[in-house]
Amino acid sequence: VNEVVVVGAGLAGVRTVEALRARGFGGRITLVGEERHRPYDRPPLSKAVLFGDADTSYVDTDLAALDVEFQAGVSAKALRKGVVETTEGELRYDGLVIATGAEPIRLPGDGPQHVLRTLDDAHELRAMLVPGARVVIIGAGWIGAEVATAARRAGCAVTVIEAGPAPLATAVGAEIGARTQRWYDGIDLRLDTMVDSVDEGGVRLVGGEFVDAHVVVTGIGVRPAVEWLTGADIDLHNGVVVDEHLRASLPNTVAVGDCAAWWSRRWQTRLRVEHWDTALNAPEVAAASLLGEDVAYDPVPYFWSEQFGHMVQYAGHHLAGERLIYRGEPEGKWSAVWLTADDALAAVLAVDRPRDLVQGRRIIDAGHRLDAERLVDPEVSLRDC
Ligand code: FAD
Repeated sequence: VNEVVVVGAGLAGVRTVEALRARGFGGRITLVGEERHRPYDRPPLSKAVLFGDADTSYVDTDLAALDVEFQAGVSAKALRKGVVETTEGELRYDGLVIATGAEPIRLPGDGPQHVLRTLDDAHELRAMLVPGARVVIIGAGWIGAEVATAARRAGCAVTVIEAGPAPLATAVGAEIGARTQRWYDGIDLRLDTMVDSVDEGGVRLVGGEFVDAHVVVTGIGVRPAVEWLTGADIDLHNGVVVDEHLRASLPNTVAVGDCAAWWSRRWQTRLRVEHWDTALNAPEVAAASLLGEDVAYDPVPYFWSEQFGHMVQYAGHHLAGERLIYRGEPEGKWSAVWLTADDALAAVLAVDRPRDLVQGRRIIDAGHRLDAERLVDPEVSLRDC
């Protein structure tokens, strides 16, 4: 490989550039990014940036020292064998990294609708979160909960509309989600409620009711940003289909980060994880694979969310129906663990209990079994269960 093109200048893209250079790759690297910003981290956008505690979250990297040609504000439009077509012309490659991330799903309607994906989105939204503003947030998932946290803190009148029976129901199940419902104090939380459209001045619910709003934020999920690959000779299914080495079906091509659905050896299924830790760490494997090394990406996936003053952390991968055990009461610090049929730890979700997270992640990695009777006592540390 002599000429690498990296499409997508988010965390996964820039980390892959770093990893290629760290492995001694001396060829040419072009990094193409739709946004005009240099690479930045997204988690702070719905936290420090929205709170007004920070204005930017640039990744601490030196693009000049990495000797990368960074084309900002340039989009890839299509892919042919050996050629990426961009809004600024064609780029030839003999190694390709697809790191285009994901993009928010929007709802129908002509009214102004905010999403929160980019630094520009965060600045735009922040300016509107003023005391007394009526803010309607659609979706009580990770992003919705974090935006609600910021809006309540800014003194807005906040309504959260969720289609499911509890917050976070889609992400971690309604039973766990219901435990977080008490955090929505002072917020008009409407569950089992579907939005029909976002209109001028508010949102129209299915059934006809209109909810007034100065600001509407849609946080109903993202989809992998792979539309530009339609028509290319590459397997796409819920993102770019890659093997455990993060190699795509097209030769000399890897995909990494939010856009990649990789084969997990550990869980024997394909996973697409839309979280920071994957964008941070998978690039090591993507770079190595592109350079012909034989390494696999086989993590215990991890993410966190900071909402309503709580630190929520999750590690692992669980299936619906796996045995769920709580450690601690919902009013305080608690965690939940999922056990497989043979009592191995499948996943852990910790609320303000970082030690459970750290120990749980190690236990999952090692494949240890746990004693369900001891687990229910939050005083017994996980590693002693
Ligand atoms: P992205 O960050 O999406 O970067 C992809 C880049 O590619 C984008 O800049 C995009 O503009 C560009 N691009 C797309 N298409 C093209 C194209 N055709 N041509 C050129 N460029 C293109 N995760 C956590 O674990 N914890 C958190 O607390 C957390 N908070 C978050 C808060 C917010 C507001 C958001 C949006 C995400 C959060 N995440 C969090 C998720 C985490 O930020 C993502 O998993 C991570 O950003 C994925 O990185 P990526 O590089 O794969 O994709």
